Amino acid sequence: LNFAHCRLPETIYKNLQQIEIHKPTPIQMEVIPAGLEGRDVLASAATGSGKTASFLIPIIVHVFALSQYYKNVDNSNGGPYALIMAPNRELCAQIEQHTKSLIQGLPNMKTVLLVGGHPIPNQIHRLQQRIQIAIATPGRFLDIYNQCEETYNFFTNIHILVLDEVDMMFKMGFETQLMKILENLQIPLGLSHRQTLMFSATIPKNIESIASSILRDPIKILI
Ligand code: AMP
Repeated sequence: LNFAHCRLPETIYKNLQQIEIHKPTPIQMEVIPAGLEGRDVLASAATGSGKTASFLIPIIVHVFALSQYYKNVDNSNGGPYALIMAPNRELCAQIEQHTKSLIQGLPNMKTVLLVGGHPIPNQIHRLQQRIQIAIATPGRFLDIYNQCEETYNFFTNIHILVLDEVDMMFKMGFETQLMKILENLQIPLGLSHRQTLMFSATIPKNIESIASSILRDPIKILI
């Protein structure tokens, strides 16, 4: 399998080449086709495996289709359409950079970074523009989400959810916060299930059991 087999929009294909990604890594070979098909994924993958691009490519393809479909965005159909959760700001910032390099040249595709260290009002201002892809730490996400009805309603259209480095999130004590988010995050109108992709360096029992409660018939990938 190579990227040409995935029938990606030409712009994404070019962007991959631009950042010297020519041949999929083993995890990408598994996750990209599954993700593009709309399947849930549980993957054990370490940093350096190419896991980030493996979830970004399906996200970008789906979100781009949604943003083309909802040409006239209002409060009921605006973004974000994808939410990526990672344990800390640095990782979130890296994911955002990676996303930016892959969405270059695609119209109506932007990112919003929801992490500590930046003023909340600026982040809310960006969310008011109904930007398509959000990347967040659980802590800052909840600070914004719980603020008021307006900020809650920003997140009623999340079609794809990614939980990255789940074991690290648990180690840092985010388990309760993460569960709160998973329980409350609304599924978009008309969908029966939200596509969810979970990544973790290791998959101990507690992560496995959360995975089985939130994922539907996941493809399990152990690299
Ligand atoms: P990650 O495992 O997602 O943290 O990615 C580690 C690094 O590998 C990043 O700098 C990516 O740009 C790079 N990378 C991802 N996929 C590929 C690929 N298929 N070929 C070469 N480099 C890649």
